[in-house]
Amino acid sequence: MNDRRIRSVVIVGGGTAGWMAAAALSRSLAGMGVRLRLIESARIDPIGVGEATVPPIMDFIRQLGIDEDDLVREIKATYKLGIGYRDWTCAGHFYFHPFGPAAPGMGNIPFQAYWLKMLLEGKAGRLEEYSIQAMAALRGRFARPVHAPNTPLNKLTYALHFDAGRFARYLRGYAEARGVLRTEGHVRHAALRGSDGFVDSVTLETGESVSADLFIDCSGFQGLLIEGALQTGYQDWNQWLPCDRAVIVHSERSAPPDPYTLVTARDAGWQWRIPLQHRDGNGYIYSGAFSEDDSARALLLGNIGGRPLSEPVALRFRPGRRKAAWNRNVVALGLAAGFLEPLEATSIHLIQRGIGMLLRFFPDRDFAAADVDRYNRIIESEFSRVRDFLLLHYSQTERVGPFWRHCRDIPLTEGLREKIELFRSHGRILREETELFPVLSWLSVMVGQNIIPHRYDPLVDALDPQRIQSRLDELRSAVKGCVEAMPPHWDFIQNTATSA
Ligand SMILES: Cc1cc2nc3c(=O)[nH]c(=O)nc-3n(C[C@H](O)[C@H](O)[C@H](O)COP(=O)(O)OP(=O)(O)OC[C@H]3O[C@@H](n4cnc5c(N)ncnc54)[C@H](O)[C@@H]3O)c2cc1C
Repeated sequence: MNDRRIRSVVIVGGGTAGWMAAAALSRSLAGMGVRLRLIESARIDPIGVGEATVPPIMDFIRQLGIDEDDLVREIKATYKLGIGYRDWTCAGHFYFHPFGPAAPGMGNIPFQAYWLKMLLEGKAGRLEEYSIQAMAALRGRFARPVHAPNTPLNKLTYALHFDAGRFARYLRGYAEARGVLRTEGHVRHAALRGSDGFVDSVTLETGESVSADLFIDCSGFQGLLIEGALQTGYQDWNQWLPCDRAVIVHSERSAPPDPYTLVTARDAGWQWRIPLQHRDGNGYIYSGAFSEDDSARALLLGNIGGRPLSEPVALRFRPGRRKAAWNRNVVALGLAAGFLEPLEATSIHLIQRGIGMLLRFFPDRDFAAADVDRYNRIIESEFSRVRDFLLLHYSQTERVGPFWRHCRDIPLTEGLREKIELFRSHGRILREETELFPVLSWLSVMVGQNIIPHRYDPLVDALDPQRIQSRLDELRSAVKGCVEAMPPHWDFIQNTATSA
């Protein structure tokens, strides 16, 4: 039979996306005789700002067989249990979006249904009190999950904050050790095959021409191959996602690092603080239609804890996605595939999903249309769900001022409108298949932003209210007890990861 196997893969770009792809492919394709090569330009630095992640990143790390303590030490990581939203719902308000599953149900009745009944009757505490992630984060504690059945410690869910440059370098070491050939070179041109318009080769500034069966475009916002060569097209989602600029600065740490990202709403967008072992990452994401760049820069510099460590860097982006992440023999990952915005730290996750799906539908040289189409539908759906979750944050606030008024007027997507209506009517939350954000995420953000249903699920009335009350009391005290037994986050890091 004719051998149609992929023999060579070229990855263009050595940022987070490029090295994540190189690391994952070097592991998954080991033994198949596929030549893997990564080309990165010394003239264009990686963007270097993706520093917060979501829990599935821990699966990525485990699947590569990387030692977590070693990684945390080398990339100066801290642990992340969720996101604290300050002044977001309205000035002076704070709520927490924790990672993790919701507390257990009672029979068929999910946690949110019985908690909501008691909340509406004034007999339940704040949502945060029933989440070990939320309470540990707010108390500055951290521990990894332990095998302690029927306790909240069993299901402790976390992600990382890390230094993006160090993360890429770590993965580079991993990939090179597994045979990935790295070329420092600037791609000038891509040549297409006359027969089918597939990318045949890329030509470097040195004149070297590099051909491959499959190209992975990790060249950042420009999308050198997916757009520059193949002109795939871009869907601009600015009509739903209002922010399109960022200013970023690193600063000295002014306190031991918190195990969560702090997000603070500002007049024309929002500011983040991501605490790392050696510094804080700070940024202000805003809408260019509502703020001048100079005032955004001044606002950021006026609101960081420690001394700035560098000059602030300004960036512009178009929230949206490439019309097809996989076109012919080019798969775009990372910023080349699209960028929504960093509020819920989903971009690195979308890279991870892109790699996972590429491996699931790994092609041969015929590039079956069914595989490519399905891949594109899955990626489109992932971007759309993240977009809807982000739009929930922007559209449902009580903040004053022109930017936030504009956000409230953004027409909701059909999917989000249904989600909000289902919740408003009886507190129901449905998680779509393979959706990144679990029920607790939707619940935390909706309740945190004052979407309180008027009625609870009628089936809760099948439960004895006394039993519900005791269950809630037990949950709250179990969470409290576990958090008290956890070490301070910074002590945990120092004990496990700061010395070799
Ligand atoms: C303000 C902001 C904040 C963000 N925060 C987060 C966050 O908290 N969490 C998160 O998950 N994501 C975040 N992201 C997204 C995250 O930064 C990216 O998803 C991630 O860094 C991947 O970038 P990349 O590798 O696709 O592109 P880049 O980092 O831009 O890398 C592009 C690579 O392509 C190479 N290249 C470009 N042109 C050529 C050429 N002609 N020849 C050869 N090589 C070339 C460059 O040298 C570079 O190596 C944020 C993004 C922004 C803008």
